Amino acid sequence: MYSTQFLHRALQQAPDRPMTVCGDRVRTTRDIADRVARLSGGLQGLGVSEGDRVAVLALNSDRNHEIFLACWWAGAVVNPVNIRWSGREIADSLRDAGAVVLLVDDDFVDMVPAFREQCADLRAVVHCGNGVAGHGMAGYEELIAASEPVPDKRIGGDAMGALLYTGGTTGVSKGVMVSHRNLLTAALGTQAACQSVFAGGVNLVVSPMFHIAGLVAWATQNLLGGTQVFLPTFSPRAVLEAIQRHRVTTVGAVPVMLQMLVAHPDIESYDLSSVKSVRYGASPISPTLLQRAMRVFRNSGFAQGYGMTETAHISVLGREDHLAGGELLRSAGRALPHCELRVVDADDVEVPAGVLGEIVTRGDHVMLGYWNRPEETAAVLRNGWMHTGDVGYVDRHGYVFVVDRIKDMIITGGENVYSTEVENALAAHPAVEACSVIGVPDTRWGERVHSVVVLREGARPDAEELRAHVRGLIAGYKVPRTVEFLDALPVSAAGKVLKRDLRAAACRADG
Ligand code: ATP
Ligand code: MG
Repeated sequence: MYSTQFLHRALQQAPDRPMTVCGDRVRTTRDIADRVARLSGGLQGLGVSEGDRVAVLALNSDRNHEIFLACWWAGAVVNPVNIRWSGREIADSLRDAGAVVLLVDDDFVDMVPAFREQCADLRAVVHCGNGVAGHGMAGYEELIAASEPVPDKRIGGDAMGALLYTGGTTGVSKGVMVSHRNLLTAALGTQAACQSVFAGGVNLVVSPMFHIAGLVAWATQNLLGGTQVFLPTFSPRAVLEAIQRHRVTTVGAVPVMLQMLVAHPDIESYDLSSVKSVRYGASPISPTLLQRAMRVFRNSGFAQGYGMTETAHISVLGREDHLAGGELLRSAGRALPHCELRVVDADDVEVPAGVLGEIVTRGDHVMLGYWNRPEETAAVLRNGWMHTGDVGYVDRHGYVFVVDRIKDMIITGGENVYSTEVENALAAHPAVEACSVIGVPDTRWGERVHSVVVLREGARPDAEELRAHVRGLIAGYKVPRTVEFLDALPVSAAGKVLKRDLRAAACRADG
């Protein structure tokens, strides 16, 4: 299996179908295949060989679609860079990856001289913003126009296809070696498990393509055929307008995006009836938000994915599960057809159904390893299993419930408190738009449960009212001792709440 296979098939089956839409630019399958073959030739002309890393520092667009495929066509490794990193972090990552070519769009051209200075392996930089040469860089469109199409090397299987960096939610982000097999099994598995994804539909790409969730959603749609609409950045309005304008059938979003969408004041004025599949995941979602989203996208099936950069999707909560509702809305679904999933204790012994432990998984979806980090690799790939660092349990029917990250668990007065459980209880209060719960060092309790709350427009409950509400739902020791109100939660580029920032701020406030 190799990741450009779908393009050859699409060329045979639907050469004139629009494959990508970005703003007003529409490209057919035939256009894309031709441009990919030329761009691949262009990259090889710049010195890219099999296994070389080609970095992409760009907002989502149809160019990412072409660049990713052109890298694979040349047998190279695509290394999409987190666009929210600082110049220094990007330089560190380019150096770590040993990228030989960098494709960069307008927003980042000013950083290029520093990258050239600091990244010894970097041989060429291509400006893919408006496509023309400048700033000492080759122009993207010129490169495509000037290059002869080359044949697809059809490199796949266990060869590395992408070097993706983890979300950096809990600490320093690590390079993950994702093979073609990893990516394709994840895409095929997602397709098999989501009863609500369709062949030939229109997929809206809003999640960043440098993140595994965005990459797998995009790869899944490639296999299904159809059209991909690219939005450079997320804004609720742009998403709603794109859905209406392009009659979008499939949208993938992280919970933070769903929350911003459903909170949009004019949501009811948009025609969202074309949406048949909403896929979400990558961080926990409260049942309250999920039910609200299901009311807004009422014609749509829902599918939740659970996974990590190291594994792509492990489990999916499918359309029927969402319709069943109840407790299942707290679950992250069941293992995908190609995955084994278990819950183990500290000695790696499997625990019975319903008992908490660490979620582990094995199968063709598990990464080749961390790039240049053999010790970290050995720490998570133990005894044949990938250790997720997530606490959870599996019920008697194989549904997995992700309870918390081990690193986010709070130990207060000797009791374990799972931050997600407290967040779900808080989120059920009608005044709460978004919230996050963390442990803060406390001389008496070891850690105390601290919550950070964003209120809905016009709502003004005080801390005591929120605490009383939570006390009505869960045990007293889990109730936040302190409540802090913020206008917005800090989120990572992948849309995850940055609890380490909240912890640092709370510790500073405590003095
Ligand atoms: P880092 O590893 O650098 O700290 P990260 O773990 O956020 O960053 P990712 O690989 O993007 O990087 O995220 C994987 C994690 O996201 C999982 O380990 C899990 O904690 C969380 N996650 C993913 N999907 C879900 C889901 N459906 N429900 C709950 N949590 C999820
Ligand atoms: Mg992680």
